[in-house]
Amino acid sequence: MIRTALVASLALTATAHAQSENQVYVETTDLGSGLYMLATNQAGNVGVSVGEDGVFMIDTQMERFAPAIDAAQRAVSGDRAVDQVLNTHLHGDHVLGNAYFAEQGAVIMAHPSVRDGLMNPVTAQLTGSTPEPLSGGYLPTVDVNDGDVVTINGLTAHLHHTPAAHTNGDIFVVFEDANVIHAGDLLFSGWFPYIDLDNGGTVDGYIAGMQAIVDVADADTQIIPGHGPLSTEADLEASIIMLTEAKARVQALVDQGLNLQQVQDAAPLADFHDDWNWGFITTERMVWTLYRDITGETE
Ligand SMILES: [Zn+2]
Ligand SMILES: [Zn+2]
Repeated sequence: MIRTALVASLALTATAHAQSENQVYVETTDLGSGLYMLATNQAGNVGVSVGEDGVFMIDTQMERFAPAIDAAQRAVSGDRAVDQVLNTHLHGDHVLGNAYFAEQGAVIMAHPSVRDGLMNPVTAQLTGSTPEPLSGGYLPTVDVNDGDVVTINGLTAHLHHTPAAHTNGDIFVVFEDANVIHAGDLLFSGWFPYIDLDNGGTVDGYIAGMQAIVDVADADTQIIPGHGPLSTEADLEASIIMLTEAKARVQALVDQGLNLQQVQDAAPLADFHDDWNWGFITTERMVWTLYRDITGETE
C-alpha cells in the first residue's frame, strides 16, 4: 500500500514573487521498509531511509527547498536530523541542499568526480550557463564508488556507478531487501532525458545506465526517478526503446551528410514529441544532444 501525505511549507524568501510561486509542496510517498520518496512541486525526487540507525537521504535538491525537504523527512523519522547523504551526481538540483544538511551534522557521500565537478564547474553548451563553484559544506567528503554498500536501518543499499551516462559520476542505489531503487537522473520518467555531454555524459552510456537498472530490477521494483512520478521497470524499458530509436534516426541522417540544421529540419523525432517533449529537454534539444553526441559538433 502506498500512502501519500502532503506537507506544505513556505520557502523563506523575501521577494516580490507571488505567494503561490514561493510555496513549496513536498509530497511524501511511503514505499515500505522505512523508505520514502519526497517529491517537490518544483524539482526532482529525494529518497530517504528512516529507522533505528538514523536518516539516510539520497539527493538534497535546491537550497531553498531544503527546509521543506527536511520538514518532510522529520515528519516520518521522529524529528531526527539527517545523518548521511548520498548525491547521485553533481547537478545543482541534487546537491544544493548539501550545506543545509551538513550544518546539521550529515556526512555527504558521492562519486569522486562530483566533488571535482562542483569545485571546477564547466559551462553547459546546451544552455550556455556555468554553475557557481562550490566549497565548504556543499562538497561531499566521502568518496563512494561502484560496489560500495551502505548498511542502515536493517537495509543494504548497493551503490552502482554507471560511467559516461547522464554525467561521468552517476550512482544509482539499490535497496535489494525492500525492492526499491533510486535511479538518480538515469531516469526522466516519460520525458526526453537530459544527457550532460559537458560533464562526461554520452547517449550510449545513458542507455547502458538505464539497462543496468533494468538488469537488477523486476516487475515489482519501485523506482524513484530523478524527475517524474514513482516508476517501474516498464518505464525504463520504454525510455530505452525511445532513446535507442531516436539515436538511430539521427545517426541515419548524419550518415547522409546532413548538418545540424538539416537534421532539425528533417524532424526525426516528430512522432515522439507529444509523449516525451518537456520544458527543459524539448524535442529540438534532444535532437541537438543526439547530433552532438554522434558528431562532436554543435552545428
Ligand atoms: Zn542531473
Ligand atoms: Zn536532475
